[in-house]
Amino acid sequence: MIATVPFAWGDSLEGELGRPVGKRVTQCALSRICGVCGETLGRPIAFLGTQREVGRNAFHNPPMHVACAHTLLGRVGGTEIVLTAGFEFVRPARDDEDRRPTFQPNSLLA
Ligand SMILES: [Zn+2]
Repeated sequence: MIATVPFAWGDSLEGELGRPVGKRVTQCALSRICGVCGETLGRPIAFLGTQREVGRNAFHNPPMHVACAHTLLGRVGGTEIVLTAGFEFVRPARDDEDRRPTFQPNSLLA
């Protein structure tokens, strides 16, 4: 278990991780770095999400290393880990109710 606040949750209170910080989530997407440790991502890429996010294949949490994703299980509301070789970073449309961008894994790994 990591003791520090994960990279993308930088402004959240330790121990009470809420939503990741939007600016950092975008940074993770564009720089392809891990939302937990901030290091470059390899493959597979892990996404941590709720059952609903898994069902829609659209995640709000940033991409992570597999091991890093496991350290966040149960800390950020996500209950499932999905592995992928790549993802699309989808910014919300102007009329979307949810203004947060989503990550959409494009080649799920079993
Ligand atoms: Zn990591």
